[in-house]
Amino acid sequence: MPQTHPDTLPPCGRYAPSPSGDLHLGNLRTALLAWLFARSAGGRFVMRVEDLDRVKAGAAEGQLADLAALGIDWDGKTLYQSTRLPAYRAAVEKLLAEGLVYECFCTRREIQEASSAPHGAPGAYPGTCRKLTESERAARRAQRPAALRLRAHTDSFTVTDYFAGSYTDAVDDFVLVRNDGTYAYNLVCVVDDGYQGVTQVVRGDDLLSSAPRQAYLATLLGLGVPTYAHVPLALNTQGKRLAKRDGAVTLAQLQAAGVSQAEILRMISGSIPLPPITASGGNTSTPHLPESAAEMLSVFSPDKIGRAPWIVVDPLLESTCCL
Ligand code: GLU
Repeated sequence: MPQTHPDTLPPCGRYAPSPSGDLHLGNLRTALLAWLFARSAGGRFVMRVEDLDRVKAGAAEGQLADLAALGIDWDGKTLYQSTRLPAYRAAVEKLLAEGLVYECFCTRREIQEASSAPHGAPGAYPGTCRKLTESERAARRAQRPAALRLRAHTDSFTVTDYFAGSYTDAVDDFVLVRNDGTYAYNLVCVVDDGYQGVTQVVRGDDLLSSAPRQAYLATLLGLGVPTYAHVPLALNTQGKRLAKRDGAVTLAQLQAAGVSQAEILRMISGSIPLPPITASGGNTSTPHLPESAAEMLSVFSPDKIGRAPWIVVDPLLESTCCL
């Protein structure tokens, strides 16, 4: 059975962007939801920049500035993964000492061919290098550098997700350290969620299937397992994941086109959907969708969040169509 976080830890949420470019509306919505979940529970909220790869110069600063401009605040300093290499090494060494790590020399193609065989979970690593002898390993080391994989002692794990409920998925011998020496996402995410005291992980539902692997690894490292809320993604009108090429979708693009921050926040509020603010401080102002993070928080309740993806119509087309 999965462990749950000790009740003694105060609630703590996080947002952990990869600094590969500007955040788009879907990312901003997920960040706001993570912040709303945490703050509405009276919790802490922490920030982490996942800058071990896919780094675009200046992107982290731009992302943090956008999040702050929307009214998201966070506790303590932003954690940059590039400063955490000794902690990742220590985690791998702990697992190594327990016999839970092995070298893998497989190429992508070898894995694809082996994992499409008619047994085992689809896409799961078939364990080719698990049983290599020391002399076989020595011979393979001379040919190519090894990745390090977890020697998993289960083939599935169950987590609790706010939307998906009790969610079980495959756990295979996933990569901890890539063969270029980079620490893998599944490892660093777990080590840092533990280090930052994260008790609730709110992120896009494209990562739901990673949660059982990460939760299993957390138990092996003696870390608490957070609760999860994998929120529906933002999609374009073709039903594909929202991307920069889908028009004006970043804060800078929208603002350059004359869309105010309040309008952007109303758009996101409508997508969640949050109820309108009916009166503020005794004023009888006309009801409006929340247009600041603080207003969003004042009406937020997790059980109202829609379960369907947010289909983003180019907001510029939308805002000019009805003037
Ligand atoms: N850095 C990941 C991303 O930007 C998110 C990872 C996570 O939230 O666990 O997609």
